Amino acid sequence: MKTKKERMEIPENIPVITPEMMDKTAIEIAKRSAGRKESPVKGVKEIECPSCGNSTMNYADDLTFEVVLAGERIVIPNLTGLKCSKCGEVAFDANSTKIIEKYTTGKPTGGYELKISTVGGGKIGMYFPKDVLRVMKISKSEKAILTPLSNRKMVIELLNSTA
Ligand SMILES: [Zn+2]
Repeated sequence: MKTKKERMEIPENIPVITPEMMDKTAIEIAKRSAGRKESPVKGVKEIECPSCGNSTMNYADDLTFEVVLAGERIVIPNLTGLKCSKCGEVAFDANSTKIIEKYTTGKPTGGYELKISTVGGGKIGMYFPKDVLRVMKISKSEKAILTPLSNRKMVIELLNSTA
């Protein structure tokens, strides 16, 4: 997996993963390949999908699990299991489930908490938590667009600068 360590711009809708998570995942995947533990559903074809009812569930080894935990969006690639070609329903096999559990157990879902305070001149400032900075690689001179969604909710979109 060559792409793992590459630095790239992260468009807003592409999930991000911390370098630590990536390393762990890489280790996990390496272990799996080393063990040559084959998926019990390998080769399975055209079984009934629990979601849409079609017989379109097939073995897949390129499944991705995605979740937001403690404000971090976590993506675990290269998982094995079944995928429905009709509706996209995914069922992970035991190995993949173990890997997913390893990363998700005991971690709260949700966003980051941050402080809002006065920064002088009557202005209000928000301080990004360190984790956010680490994950998103936000730099000091970067610009952002803030879009209020309601009076309690907003979206902050970083404008691309140097990446
Ligand atoms: Zn389906």
